[in-house]
This record gives sequence, structure tokens and C-alpha cells, in this order.
Amino acid sequence: MVELVLDAVTKRYDDAQGTETAVDDVSLSVEDELLVLLGPSGCGKTTTLRMVAGLETVTDGRIDIGGRDVTDRHPSDRSIAMVFQDYGLYTMMSVGENMAYGLKHSTDLSKAERDERVESMAEMFGIEDLLDRDVTDLSGGQKQRVALGRAMVREPDVFLLDEPLASLDAKLRSQMRTELQQLQEEMDITTMYVTHDQKEAMTMADRVAVMNDGVLRQVGPPEEVYENPVDSFVADFLGNPSMNQLPATVDRQGERYVLRTDVGDGRIAFASIPREGTDAADGDRVTVGVRPEHLRLSDPETADFDATVSVTEYQGSDNFVHVDVGEVELTAVVSPSVRPEPGETVPVTVPASAVHVFDGETGESLR
Ligand code: ATP
Repeated sequence: MVELVLDAVTKRYDDAQGTETAVDDVSLSVEDELLVLLGPSGCGKTTTLRMVAGLETVTDGRIDIGGRDVTDRHPSDRSIAMVFQDYGLYTMMSVGENMAYGLKHSTDLSKAERDERVESMAEMFGIEDLLDRDVTDLSGGQKQRVALGRAMVREPDVFLLDEPLASLDAKLRSQMRTELQQLQEEMDITTMYVTHDQKEAMTMADRVAVMNDGVLRQVGPPEEVYENPVDSFVADFLGNPSMNQLPATVDRQGERYVLRTDVGDGRIAFASIPREGTDAADGDRVTVGVRPEHLRLSDPETADFDATVSVTEYQGSDNFVHVDVGEVELTAVVSPSVRPEPGETVPVTVPASAVHVFDGETGESLR
């Protein structure tokens, strides 16, 4: 198994407006896994992937593949294969020729060996019946399979994918997600996958690396990043609908902290959490985070406050209910049987065990 290591990798672009740091001191090691690089548009994920591929120079830092420093190596001398969103197929060639093109530089293989590799890879991607077809005659999903097959036929050490499913419709995308994941497991290949789609990241990744503003914010298995985000950016970026975030003040009462919203007259106490395990202090202004699926709207006995329903979005399997508390809007994901009307007042329960606390200024997690 080949390890890919990024050691303090930085990319700066100089232009007329000055210097822009697209990737800032990123260190990461990927081995025997599918690592998804996730973040909003412009956060630096494509630049990171392109540096690994050798399509972009590295300003500072070092990239190793399989223990070999490849920082200044040509893309063809890195044992990587890359697949892009727009497939990049050669339209003048058939499917089989496109796939065999990936082996053009493999001079040590005989013609028979090449044909065999192409056939077995085509079988793996379920396109063995398409080998003689023109690529222009294929559907989007078939084209993407050919692009993946062409990349994998070379048996690279590292597989790099940049939003490979972005052009496919939702159903096909979901099917290809599963296929790609199975394939990565079967082939046991170190894979780096770029997307801005958090659902794709959560369902496919062994580990997710969340980036923002060129900086790597958190790396971990999807559940860990979702359940224990290191800061309010990661908390907000993962999850749909996103995590509710309320401004609040910490009020010490013995061995517990009572969190009071800054909404209205700031008197609403809505959660009491143990002091132990919380890095906040009495009087701190914090941001409290609660996932929409943890808010309850139908339990007057335990309610922390009342809120007014603004909009509901019925989803079939569940119901998204948006409520207003003073100037703050909260979203709850509730059972589809809970269907309050806009304008209705509902009791909101915030279970203390589900509460995240972030520093009001830096956004860093305090709990
Ligand atoms: P997207 O999902 O939109 O592709 P991304 O997260 O992949 O976004 P990058 O494409 O890596 O982001 O871009 C990171 C930053 O670097 C952006 O601010 C972008 O404007 C800048 N950038 C990228 N390529 C260049 C370039 N060739 N010259 C100058 N700036 C660049």
C-alpha cells in the first residue's frame, strides 16, 4: 500500500492585485483509504489535488508518494492517475482506444497484456460491451465509467478525483458513489477525492479533510467530524440543514454552566451543562450549536422556550420546520407527523446533551 504525504504544502499565486495564498501549510497523510477533501468553492481543494498530480507547482513544502519525494517530478513520473468532472475523453477514439491510451507509455507491456488489462478494467466498470463504441455516443454515466477505467488501467499508486460525479444526475450520482467506493476497496488504492458536496463526502469517505480559506480545519472519519467538529465552520459546513448556531452567554451556577441566549432581553436559559469538559468561563460570550435533528418541537413539559413557525418544508421521510426566536432563526428536523402551521407558536426543547459550545470570537470548539 502506497502512502501519500503532504508536508506543510503551501501554494501562493502572485498577480497584479498582490499575493494570494490558495493553500496554506497543509499537512496530511493518506494511505489505504479514500480521503475526501471537502470545502466551499475557492477553499483550495482543487489546487491541493493539482499539486499532488504535478499539474501545479508547490510554493513551499513537500509531497511524497510511496516514500519518494515527488515535489518537483513530472506528472508522468508520480504513478498517479487523475479523473476530472468533464471526463477529458478523446472524442476521435473508441471506448477501447481511450482506455488503451492510458497504457501508451507502458512500453514493458505486450499488445496482448494491454488488451487483457483494458478488458478486465472494462469488466470491472461494466462497460465491456461498449469497447467498440464511439465515446460521443455514450451517456454521461457511461463516459464517466470510461474515464475512470482509463485512469485505473495504468494501475497507479495514487488515484486522484476532482468532482468526478458533478455532471451526473442525482440518481446516477448516488449509484456511482457506491460503485466507486466498492472499487476503491477492492483495488485497495490510496485515493484522494475532491468535492464541495458534503453528502458525497459523508457517504464515501473513510476520512474527510475539511478545508476553508486554504487551511485544513479538521481531518477524521465522517462521524467524528460530524459529531465533534473542532470549530463552528466545520460544524456549519457539515449537515443538511446546517447546525443551528445561537449567540449565548455562559452563566456559572455551582458545578454547572447555564447557557442563556443573547436573543431579546437575553434571559432565556436553555441548557445546563456540566462545567467539567467545557473550556468556557463564567460570563463568556459563546456560540451554541444544536443540530436540527436534536431540536424537539412538541414537548411543552420539557420546553426551554417558545418560538414562532415561519416556514415548513415537508420532505416525505421528515419535516424541516423553521422557527423564529427573536432575531434568531432555528431549523428543526422532525417527524413528518409533526406539521405545525406558519405563524403557530411551538415549544422548543434543546437537549443539553446535544449542545455544542464554540468560542464567540474564534469559533473554536469549547466542548
Ligand atoms: P472550486 O470548488 O470552486 O473549484 P476550490 O476549493 O477547488 O474551488 P481552488 O480552485 O483550489 O479552490 O482555488 C483556491 C484559490 O486559489 C481561489 O481563491 C482561486 O481564485 C485561487 N486560484 C486558483 N488558481 C489560480 C491561478 N491560476 N491564479 C491565481 N489564483 C488562483
